[in-house]
Amino acid sequence: MSALDLIVRGGTVVAPDGARRADVGIAGGRIAAIAPELDGGAGEELDARGLHVLPGAVDAHVHFNDPGRTDYEGFEAGTRAAAAGGTTTVVDMPLNALPPTIDAAAFDRKRAVVERSALVDVALWGGLVPGNVDRLGELAARGVVGFKAFMTATGMPEFAMADDLTLYEGMRVAARLRLPVAVHAESEAITAGLADRARREGRTAMRDYLRSRPAIAEVEAIARALLLAEETRCALHVVHVSTGRGVALVAEARARGIDATCETCPHYLVLDEDDAERLGAVAKCSPPLRAGAEREALWAALDDIAFVASDHSPSPPELKRSDDAFANWGGIAGVQALLGALVDAGHHARGLALERIAELAAAGAAQRLRLPGKGRIEPGADADLALVDLAGTTEVTPASLHHRHTHSAWVGRTFRGRIVRTLVRGRTVVADGRVVAPPAGRVVTPHATEES
Ligand code: ZN
Repeated sequence: MSALDLIVRGGTVVAPDGARRADVGIAGGRIAAIAPELDGGAGEELDARGLHVLPGAVDAHVHFNDPGRTDYEGFEAGTRAAAAGGTTTVVDMPLNALPPTIDAAAFDRKRAVVERSALVDVALWGGLVPGNVDRLGELAARGVVGFKAFMTATGMPEFAMADDLTLYEGMRVAARLRLPVAVHAESEAITAGLADRARREGRTAMRDYLRSRPAIAEVEAIARALLLAEETRCALHVVHVSTGRGVALVAEARARGIDATCETCPHYLVLDEDDAERLGAVAKCSPPLRAGAEREALWAALDDIAFVASDHSPSPPELKRSDDAFANWGGIAGVQALLGALVDAGHHARGLALERIAELAAAGAAQRLRLPGKGRIEPGADADLALVDLAGTTEVTPASLHHRHTHSAWVGRTFRGRIVRTLVRGRTVVADGRVVAPPAGRVVTPHATEES
């Protein structure tokens, strides 16, 4: 064996085939060996006794808004928060940055920002919007993981929603490029119609906002997206599904042979509409937080959910201060809470095995988006690790958050479990909640599909 740079010694390693006490040997940023007892001689050793060694989370859905809207977040602050939460790879959405990532030139600009300011590794979604179908090929050549489209209004004039023709034609091209299309699935006709009516009638409280985006709006749009995917033979990924019926539709389509997957978010698994009313604008998102029964339906459908992602959607606090719930920024700042919420709500509260938590937080996204070396603790993989003290606790306070604006629906909660240390390609980037390394994140691009 070649010389090791680092041995993570004596932890309980959560590998795809089970959790066991082992040493992890790291060389050149990769996992070189996993064994009960590795011989000494590494340049450095980390004592992980009493800790669990999980794969660093792969958060497939963040909005870091950089370049162009760094007053909302930016890669520097956003990736520090990710790392503090045990996330070692983020996949950034094409919208909210200026320019949005809808052509090769915009990809190049975002890549340059990532390479100078990201603390963790970063992959990029391209965008599918009316008028850019002929740009999907150049985005694929640059290395996007897929194409994100909105079936409902985005609120961002530079990133329009995709009408059905745009979706249909975009999916045909994406299928040829062998990349997935990811959709925000909510019916614009239903949600915009109900929102207009409520506002005209002066009903603008949080409860009125929640009622303007009923479950059927999501279910109808998912069904439509699945039909288009079936027709075009395009891989479809439905982001942030908030209903059990939505997950079931995706699972039924997959059983029919359609390449369809979905994700949900920690906030749909943990919070509900009563939290939304209690917390106010920091808990506004779309699709909205739902009734407790819907939250339970998501847990029951977990086997049909490919992965969990944060949908970190930050904003300056001023955009969350209106008395009109419809006017407030929609989006929950949650990038730092992904793994912590899953360990608390999934492992501690519901008894999910840590291997399952690792799949939901890391391996599922890495596999669906074909991110090489990411999401699993196995020889040859990148040494992206989160060291977790299951017996510890994490109090989520504004002071504990590393993102630019420290409001979040998670503030005030205490997670059972504490992320003690985060390593990206063998380098400790966060220890005990403090950032200890300069940014050296890389852009990750998907590996090619196997020829069929
Ligand atoms: Zn999003």
